Amino acid sequence: MTMPMKHELPKLPYAYNALEPFIDAKTLEIHHTKHHQSYVDKLNAALEKYPELQSKTIEELIKSLYDIPEAIRTTVRNNAGGHFSHTLYWNTMSPTAEEYVPEKLGKEIIGTFGSIVEFKDQFSKAAANVFGSGWVWLIVTTNGKLKIVSTQGHDNPLMTGDRPLMVIDAWEHAYYLHYQNRRPEYIENWWNVVDWKAVEKNYNSPE
Ligand code: MN
Repeated sequence: MTMPMKHELPKLPYAYNALEPFIDAKTLEIHHTKHHQSYVDKLNAALEKYPELQSKTIEELIKSLYDIPEAIRTTVRNNAGGHFSHTLYWNTMSPTAEEYVPEKLGKEIIGTFGSIVEFKDQFSKAAANVFGSGWVWLIVTTNGKLKIVSTQGHDNPLMTGDRPLMVIDAWEHAYYLHYQNRRPEYIENWWNVVDWKAVEKNYNSPE
């Protein structure tokens, strides 16, 4: 008999105060240890009665939501989504982030959006315009194009078969302790910690 696999909160690749002054330590700690943890816990609780689903990866669960029993489908959608989205968010930020966009991805961004500045502007506007709680992503679409997309709640591009490269959390819980209601200021500061090397790594490694 094998032990059921539990999903686990990933360790952050940096200290809680490492992204200051752009993301404050208290917000980051609560975001990681309370919000993200609760998505992991709720996902594990939902899967408890379904051992056949416990060996699936988070990506597999999200990509096959239609196969998930209806009784837990919404719970899995929200909490597997929350777990996936936060993990990408943590992993594409870094205290040693450089402003320089690596060449291959940079060329693709310029080809698609006109310039890096224009891309950042469109991405920031999309993040500012998320109504309520959601996320803004840079994705590679199923036909291989770069695109900026917004999602509500914890919905994410895996649900539509697209490949996410980077993401900003536009939920209030991502910024409110420091920025209060000033989401545009959080977004503007967030660019300082975007780890382009990690984003390009995602770009270069299709599943
Ligand atoms: Mn969040």
